[in-house]
Amino acid sequence: MENQTAVELNDEAKVLLQVILEKKVSAGKEHKISAKERSAIPAQEMPAQDPAARGKNVSEVALGYGEDQARLEAERCLGCKNEPCVNGCPVAVPIPRFIAEIQEGNFKAAVDIIKETNLLPAVCGRVCPQEKQCQAECTLGKMLKDTGKAVAIGRLERFVADWERGNNKVTVPAIKNATGKKVAIIGSGPAGLTAAADCAREGHAVTIFEAFHKPGGVMVYGIPEFRLPKSIVQAEVQNLVKMGVLIETNFLAGRTRTVSEILEDYNAVFIGAGAGLPKFLGCPGENLVGVMSANEYLTRANLMKAYNTEKADTPMYKSEVTVVIGGGNVAMDAARMALRLGSREVHVIYRRTREEMPARAEEIEHAIEEGIVFNFLRNPECFIGDEEGRVTGMELLKYELGEKDNSGRPRPVAVKNSSYVFNCDTVIVALGNEPNPLLSRTTENLNADKKGKIIVDETQKTSLDKVYAGGDIVLGAATVILAMGEGRKAAEAINKSLAL
Ligand code: FAD
Ligand code: SF4
Repeated sequence: MENQTAVELNDEAKVLLQVILEKKVSAGKEHKISAKERSAIPAQEMPAQDPAARGKNVSEVALGYGEDQARLEAERCLGCKNEPCVNGCPVAVPIPRFIAEIQEGNFKAAVDIIKETNLLPAVCGRVCPQEKQCQAECTLGKMLKDTGKAVAIGRLERFVADWERGNNKVTVPAIKNATGKKVAIIGSGPAGLTAAADCAREGHAVTIFEAFHKPGGVMVYGIPEFRLPKSIVQAEVQNLVKMGVLIETNFLAGRTRTVSEILEDYNAVFIGAGAGLPKFLGCPGENLVGVMSANEYLTRANLMKAYNTEKADTPMYKSEVTVVIGGGNVAMDAARMALRLGSREVHVIYRRTREEMPARAEEIEHAIEEGIVFNFLRNPECFIGDEEGRVTGMELLKYELGEKDNSGRPRPVAVKNSSYVFNCDTVIVALGNEPNPLLSRTTENLNADKKGKIIVDETQKTSLDKVYAGGDIVLGAATVILAMGEGRKAAEAINKSLAL
């Protein structure tokens, strides 16, 4: 099966699974396995490529559960009646219900339950920050607080989605009779894809307009292959095509055609154009050769396949010592990609400590295993270059943690006279992204805030009639699942308005 390595359980775990299955048969359908017994089942670790080997390839790092391993992990779930995990999920996936199907070996039923509220389980199972969402609320995780091993909800979600795809069980959602109404979607990230699917299901003719030459948004140009194989995103896009959705690439709304011009031919428009404008530090030397944004670096590496030196001729900056500034997922992706592109040393510079890093816990652990060096409580004051204008290093200032700020995290406070020189030949700035103001500037009366985020009401409707928006263009740089949630809400409102 693609990207799936069936992992053999060790003898002890095999016996345990057998005992559980036999006990269930003798207890009938009621699953008379106590919470104590369930909590004693060992948490199933995610099999992964060896750290030394994976730093030299771009294949997926996490390999996925096999069937037995998934069933054993599912048996850890207590099936809590109050469903705290569901409250922790931004799209309220019916978690205990889908896990109960895995316990029974009904993998297709499990994935169908997830798809009631989440159309991209293979993606979300890989990239959602579960440890801060559903798994943070898990009763079992709280019971076992010493180990913190909540039920691995994300890994189980990924397992059933991969199982469905690997066994050719993917079904295209039913589509209602054609309504004769047309919906335009600007942007093909998770927000746009979700809105497109939900409008197409209703029988509307949907066209996605995408600026890049490939659909998928950040899932294709930002998140690297070693974390989210592009074939998975393409499979999801193909499902939309099977549903009759048209995709027009190399179409920059606001330039190729304005939103008002698109509206002449469509009954409604959804803007899911993301937040693709990188933020910079604004310190001296940032325009030196060799200092670049993580967006540029990752787009070259992922979308333009710079890692594939035999087939792609995308130029890539040659690096010996790379420094990545930032502590989020983007920073982790850039650092790990730099390693794979041959940088001898890769350093992450972050103003706070590991505790405050916004990146997914698994990504930080993987980066450490791969040999990325973390330099906490540091930030550059300026970059230093040679006579040819190439970066040779930076002046780093030391920081300490102060009072909590608006983000709820301790504020980083610079330590006076603490700066020192740190040598490097490449700097990747990964401080987050903002929405590109192109659409708000080229669309009359489309209201946006100071940061370029489009302003919407509770149904995702903008200040313009028939124009809706969602995802990062509304929220600022957020997450895949939140973008999907907004795409879904907007589609519901569009479908309602077109039914009138
Ligand atoms: P996007 O995914 O940004 O898609 C917007 C699309 O619109 C793009 O394809 C863009 O080309 C297109 N577009 C823009 N302007 C126009 C225009 N004028 N005309 C036509 N098309 C246009 N989130 C997680 O949940 N987990 C993670 O692990 C994670 N890792 C990340 C790693 C990186 C490197 C980055 C950059 C982000 C990461 N995120 C992660 C955030 C997540 O990817 C985004 O929140 C999410 O993709 C936003 O979805 P979206 O549909 O709003 O926008
Ligand atoms: Fe299962 Fe944890 Fe959800 Fe309870 S909170 S139903 S144990 S996943």
